[in-house]
Amino acid sequence: MKKVYKAHILYTKEPSYFEVLSNGYVVVDAEGYVTGVAEDLASLDCDNAEIIDFGDRLLIPAMNDLHVHAPQYRNQGLAMDLELLSWLQKYTFPEEAKYADTSYAERMYRRFVRDLWRFGTMRSCVFATIHTESTRVLMHLFQEAGMGALVGKVAMNRNCPRELSESVDEMLQGFETLLGETQSAKREESLVRLIVTPRFIPSCTPEMLRVCGELAAKYRLPVQSHLSENRNEIALVQSLEKESTCYGDAYDRYGLFGQTPTVMAHCVYTEGEEMELIRRRGVMVAHCPTSNLNVSTGIAPIRPFLDKGMCVGLGSDISGGHDLSIFRMMVYAIQVSKAYFQQHREYPFLTLPEVFWMATKSAGSFFGRIGSFEPGYEFDALVIDDSDLNHDNYSLLERLERYIYLGDDRQIEHRFCRGREIKEPKLIE
Ligand SMILES: [Zn+2]
Repeated sequence: MKKVYKAHILYTKEPSYFEVLSNGYVVVDAEGYVTGVAEDLASLDCDNAEIIDFGDRLLIPAMNDLHVHAPQYRNQGLAMDLELLSWLQKYTFPEEAKYADTSYAERMYRRFVRDLWRFGTMRSCVFATIHTESTRVLMHLFQEAGMGALVGKVAMNRNCPRELSESVDEMLQGFETLLGETQSAKREESLVRLIVTPRFIPSCTPEMLRVCGELAAKYRLPVQSHLSENRNEIALVQSLEKESTCYGDAYDRYGLFGQTPTVMAHCVYTEGEEMELIRRRGVMVAHCPTSNLNVSTGIAPIRPFLDKGMCVGLGSDISGGHDLSIFRMMVYAIQVSKAYFQQHREYPFLTLPEVFWMATKSAGSFFGRIGSFEPGYEFDALVIDDSDLNHDNYSLLERLERYIYLGDDRQIEHRFCRGREIKEPKLIE
């Protein structure tokens, strides 16, 4: 049976402006897909549908996080005074090694999934660790919660501690085991799926990269990794992959750059040839503005990317980033684009509808038809009760802007993923 949700509806079909429907209606079918949206109920096909009235609340698309490391959740807000490569060695790798223990993994992953829920993130692209067992735990927790995720069992076998290194055969076997368990006739429609995840070029031998590319091609799986985050890292990649003309080209040679849907985090130093390759291959860029600042990498040139027609979404990058809220990522994305603008006057800073679109419809496209209320989109939505922030005659757009800048999880009253209301996932202590 169809359901009709009534509220003040705001979303972005286009990056340049908001659709604003005062006291609007969105119709959702029994499978969780939007079939209509309008201010006038009579114009919608919804006979006998149940009407759920959210009164004066705001109804917006749910958030999508395109880049986050679940096993770094304990380190959130720690070691923010180091630079990338030393931060990896001193903090990140020792923490990830703990995920050989599945009971530790379950305790931490439950908190991670619960907190994604708190901040209204219904879809995420997640790095787990090399460990097959604890990656399975994470996939189960997302399934149990009813939230969408692409989960990566991380491939790495060089430049890392021995306990975080897996042979190519072990990686392949673990990956295919997980794939067998999660594969079904309708795998494409399943909310939780595997994503091929070479950590980044410096962590993988050519053989590991080749096998990752083959896995993606054989099972038509998406790919995630890191790209051009830091100058030292880029120099290292150049020395390791001498044939490659740029960092992106190194992935491309292994079939890991848009041969299947691909998301690359950071792209801080991406320019020229690499930009062109990203655009041509339809690779999605995960912009992680807090990470740009914390790990002192520099600011990703998002305006030039958008001008060129590249796809860009937002990522929290826990724990290079310190904040799990994608609303906060929108704020940071505007702020760092203003800092970028100070140095590059030809590139105007980002606007609110642009960052909202990046967090919803643009990032959502990596998971399917997600992030908008246009007919055919999956109904991933948040109901915001901003009454404590709405103490004067603010317009609906001003109310949304104030929520983005000033609100948090306390104002999110309901969360929906593919039409289903998602209740708070349970913790174990
Ligand atoms: Zn990362």
